[in-house]
Amino acid sequence: MKHDHALKIADLTVSYRRIPALHHIGFEVSCGQCVGLLGPNGAGKTTLLKTLAGLLGRETGTIHFHGREVRGATPDIAYLPQRGQIDWDFPTTVRGLVEMGRYLRLGWWKKYRATDDAAVDAAITAMSLEPLQDRQISALSGGQQQRAFLARALAQEAHVLLLDEPFAGLDKPNQDTLRATFRTLRQAGKLLLVSHHDLATVPLIFDRVVLLNGEMIAAGPTAQVFTEENIQRAYTTRVFAGVDHGHAV
Ligand code: ATP
Repeated sequence: MKHDHALKIADLTVSYRRIPALHHIGFEVSCGQCVGLLGPNGAGKTTLLKTLAGLLGRETGTIHFHGREVRGATPDIAYLPQRGQIDWDFPTTVRGLVEMGRYLRLGWWKKYRATDDAAVDAAITAMSLEPLQDRQISALSGGQQQRAFLARALAQEAHVLLLDEPFAGLDKPNQDTLRATFRTLRQAGKLLLVSHHDLATVPLIFDRVVLLNGEMIAAGPTAQVFTEENIQRAYTTRVFAGVDHGHAV
């Protein structure tokens, strides 16, 4: 099937207390792509990621993955919140966190088996976390924390990884490591959809972009879509007539 590996979003409207944050959004991306989700503050990036993860309801629209309609949360799609949204004092080791990914896939009632241990080992190795696996997550650097959550998504066997501002607050070496990790995940056939603020680094990280401003601005290959004109349209105009979210955009 031609679009077998596609994530397709059509006519998606999501509102908070009846005020739309996303208005008739539609685009299509595929496994093996690293997609930057761009737009000014309040553009609806987090709202879109949470909706795709099944954490927010939608008013209109459909989401299809692998040709099947997605309704609510599925282990195929993993969401990594902004770092500030995570309780880093939650008492768990890196390995414990990665094991949670297995339970999300298995269901809590299933027996944890040797194959699950092997999947956890593989995820920890893929994210170069072997020396840190017994460490509490509160005692990791920002870059290591990102990798620990990516390892959990790998153990969960998620195909789509939704990341909210993963580069924020990382120093240059950790940013470079995360970029290399994204390349590895892409080559493994994962679809990465990543909200991002730093426009200067967009062409270095993403092969495709989605530009949002409450409404859809553009989506496609970075070389074609990440243009001066589209950036201007996304960042300087509020295409969203009649709705004031109280943001200067
Ligand atoms: P940022 O770049 O600042 O993180 P964003 O692009 O991720 O912004 P969202 O956080 O998705 O944007 O917000 C989109 C709109 O929805 C904003 O106008 C915001 O004020 C509004 N909004 C977000 N969360 C809520 C909420 N829980 N209740 C009401 N309105 C909300």
